[in-house]
Amino acid sequence: MKYVDPHAHMVSRTTDDYERMALAGCVALTEPAFWAGYDRGSAEGFRDYFRLLTHTEPRRAAQYGIRHHTWLCINAKESEDVALARSVLAIIPEFLTAPGVLGIGEIGLNKNSKNELLIFDEHLELARRFGTLVLVHTPHLEDKLKGTRLIMDAIRNQGIDPGRVLIDHVEEHTVQQVLDRGFWAGMTLYPETKCTAQRACDIIECYGRERIWMNSACDWGVSDPLAVPKAAMEMRRRGHGEDLVRRITFENPCTFLSQSPNFRAE
Ligand SMILES: [Zn+2]
Repeated sequence: MKYVDPHAHMVSRTTDDYERMALAGCVALTEPAFWAGYDRGSAEGFRDYFRLLTHTEPRRAAQYGIRHHTWLCINAKESEDVALARSVLAIIPEFLTAPGVLGIGEIGLNKNSKNELLIFDEHLELARRFGTLVLVHTPHLEDKLKGTRLIMDAIRNQGIDPGRVLIDHVEEHTVQQVLDRGFWAGMTLYPETKCTAQRACDIIECYGRERIWMNSACDWGVSDPLAVPKAAMEMRRRGHGEDLVRRITFENPCTFLSQSPNFRAE
């Protein structure tokens, strides 16, 4: 099987993980900028991080035949510091033309705070100005539904085409609205929180195969870089054919991501 993992934080994974993903059929992945597990002290810390994302990780991935792509932003958590966030926003354009950069992400909301919303909106302006794709993180648990609505309204108010935006970490109570409003939906497969492989299969069976994908969102926490091929195995176990598996794990990510000229699956 050949698949794309559209959300993987490889800076926090080992080279062995690249090898295991390649052996499982991963041909391309995309890595959104995120919270590194600690708050960075200055915009220069982000410049170094963006260099890692645009130069170092593509080289590591290429050793295993995986095409690496990335998204740039300051995450919602660190956006609480508006002055820091604005100084990071100012350096992002320097990196937007690097090979493999798909757009702005993963932006979004964490606690649905006023500052987070302000900086979310400024990221959207940047995406609109440079005509890039957008990858959006939605908040956890009880904040998810409200946060998802706030996010979709802000995107609509910016006049950005929802077909160029992926709303990630959807769950049963948010997926329908995301799809109804014309966005793409990402299901994050986590061993404990977010979606399990079983729940992701249930969602596909209930809401269909259009504009939806699965990702591992593997990072420094409890997560599994092989979550996508494992979910594909669950789909087959339920009797779904290879056409559906390929659609969700390869064709849908390629359709959305190919809207950027910098995406290449192989
Ligand atoms: Zn993430």
